[in-house]
Amino acid sequence: MSDFQGKSVLVLGGSRGIGAAIVRRFASDGAKVVFTYNGSREAAEQLAADTGTSAVATDSSDRDAVIARVRDSGPLDILVVNAGIAVFGDALDIDPDEIDRLIRINVSTPYHASVEAARQMPEGGRIIVIGSVNGDRMPIPGMASYALSKSALQGMARGLARDFGPRGITINIVQPGPIDTDANPEDGPMRELMHSFMAIKRHGRPEEVAGMVAWLAGPEAGFVTGAMHTIDGAFGA
Ligand code: NDP
Repeated sequence: MSDFQGKSVLVLGGSRGIGAAIVRRFASDGAKVVFTYNGSREAAEQLAADTGTSAVATDSSDRDAVIARVRDSGPLDILVVNAGIAVFGDALDIDPDEIDRLIRINVSTPYHASVEAARQMPEGGRIIVIGSVNGDRMPIPGMASYALSKSALQGMARGLARDFGPRGITINIVQPGPIDTDANPEDGPMRELMHSFMAIKRHGRPEEVAGMVAWLAGPEAGFVTGAMHTIDGAFGA
């Protein structure tokens, strides 16, 4: 178990699902945690009350608002960028504005937030971004924009690892497979298809992803950077 006593953590998109599990994990390990939310104020306030953390409203599609939030929360020891959305449908029919919003939330904000966090981060700082196994493998139609966005994070981590490495700051991508959340409930209509691709035929739990994030944020992972860490029951194998 990692100990994050006294560490300052910001989780972008922490009100539900994987983000909420990450908030719970860092809080229970002693960190001072601030997390953002957008639509789920009630869930965010409840989580903050349960965990002794702070919830702040910040829309991840608003670049300048996120940059200001990261700046005003600094200096951070750990930044986790979790907020992400998917847009489903025929690529020929989807509203281009929806695609551009996805790219802002899933790609642009992770980039700008990571750069802003690194400005004030001390040596040993950690940046962890939640990507997806769909950055490596997209076996179904209708999600090209999502796959595009999660692949883009891979190049971002490789490049920013070079920029931040000399200061002892690491940046890594965690790539989950199907995880049981509101966005991808295990009892949803895609269950059988998704499990057919997997060696461990179940959805992962948000806490399992939080465990990988905690390891990457901890002292044992100081030599791990610019890398993708897949946790997917062999969905992508
Ligand atoms: P959920 O939809 O269950 O939760 C999404 C979280 O992100 C919520 O806390 C939500 O906050 C926040 N969020 C979404 N949009 C914004 C925004 N514009 N501004 C601020 N916060 C926002 O998703 P998951 O927990 O399933 O997914 C979390 C991450 O994991 C995403 O990046 C996703 O792509 C990735 N992932 C998920 C997988 C899965 O199977 N579940 C598989 C692979 C990757 P609020 O409700 O307050 O708006």
